[in-house]
Amino acid sequence: MLDYILYKKTPPGRVRFQAESDVDCELLGVSSFELGVFEVKGKGAQPASGASLLLPIKGSKQMSLILPVMSVEPLITPLGAWSARCKGPNQAQFDVRSADIVCDECSTHYEMEFVVVGDVQLAAIEAMNHQGWQASLEQQICPNCNNKG
Ligand SMILES: [Zn+2]
Repeated sequence: MLDYILYKKTPPGRVRFQAESDVDCELLGVSSFELGVFEVKGKGAQPASGASLLLPIKGSKQMSLILPVMSVEPLITPLGAWSARCKGPNQAQFDVRSADIVCDECSTHYEMEFVVVGDVQLAAIEAMNHQGWQASLEQQICPNCNNKG
């Protein structure tokens, strides 16, 4: 799941290309008909296969979904629209939570979002470690302190 999360917001209704953050298309729709496969429809510059799309996650202020494009084809209508078949996580709905975390070393407060997969606490810890924290159930060290040590 974490492989498909980027800690950078994509505005609602937009789709961006990961490599070229200035490319910003209109998002027409996202659907998932089979596990781990998403169909994204957009309008604007057409992504190449091999590119990764960034999509907004409903309810999230910090994260985007990263979906690697497997194939893409133009749609006949509306003009300039395309449909991309993408790889994605094995879930289509995302339970977004946010946690107030305090670093055990410098006492800085962080508000961090994460997507719940299975156990809430473990999902939070996994997300923190992915973001450069040194985190366990007992102790949480922020990326700043972690880099110093
Ligand atoms: Zn710290």
